[in-house]
Amino acid sequence: NGQQEQILKVENLRKTFGGITAVADVSFHVEKGSITGLIGPNGAGKSTTFDLITGVQRPDGGAVEFNDTEITGYRSDQVANQGLVRTFQIARELSEMTVLENLMLAPQNQAGETVWRAVLPRARAQVVEQEKELREQAWEMLELFEIEHVAHESAGNLSGGQRKLLEMARVLMTDPEMVLLDEPLAGVNPTLEEKLIDRLHTLKEQGYTFLFVEHDMDVIMNNCDTVIVMHQGSVLTEGQPDAVKNNEKVLDAYLGE
Ligand code: ADP
Ligand code: MG
Repeated sequence: NGQQEQILKVENLRKTFGGITAVADVSFHVEKGSITGLIGPNGAGKSTTFDLITGVQRPDGGAVEFNDTEITGYRSDQVANQGLVRTFQIARELSEMTVLENLMLAPQNQAGETVWRAVLPRARAQVVEQEKELREQAWEMLELFEIEHVAHESAGNLSGGQRKLLEMARVLMTDPEMVLLDEPLAGVNPTLEEKLIDRLHTLKEQGYTFLFVEHDMDVIMNNCDTVIVMHQGSVLTEGQPDAVKNNEKVLDAYLGE
């Protein structure tokens, strides 16, 4: 019926670092339930845009709206509490802990655990129940990403590809509505890559929304509903994969890389 719901709205975002303009003027909308690609040559401002959306950096100007709530300037835990989470270009799992522990801790890290819950007797029973649920959820994630066999390994012993899987499983443990993925496939072998992309589509069918930074054009073009192209801190163009792929401006931007 052509009805579209915009889950994320970014308006005129701007960020400079000293004399460097990382994000000059970025505006775009993301449709709920889509896999939207965010591409552009190195240094275009993609990761900084993610930082501004998720409260890792404060924008110098502009606004971010998520589910019709203005979240501009929210801290990252506040953004996460709204249901908007991101993965980092460099995975940041807690390497001393096992894979399973990493998954079980993810929601608590996000929410900021309160101390009293573990002290009061009634609350303690609740905690035990919650922990059981959390453990079940964690095992479901391990299965979804086919990393059950490394559940009790230290996260630090994982391969680069397995870390990417863990990173994605970790953000999903926080029960988000939308996930920003910053080059989730970098360093992932082709078998795992296919698996991750497959999971992305499964999760999309369940109603998740993804904004996806990836440098492999074929991956973007074959898997995204819409593609947004950034260049020099601004949006160059956006549209369906075929239109973007054949856009002269896009080709020029990448030639200049
Ligand atoms: P992309 O992710 O598209 O490759 P980035 O957002 O990482 O681009 O970077 C955009 C520009 O901003 C680059 O020129 C980069 O060097 C610069 N930049 C990003 N973060 C910082 C920072 N913390 N300090 C100074 N310059 C930065
Ligand atoms: Mg980047």
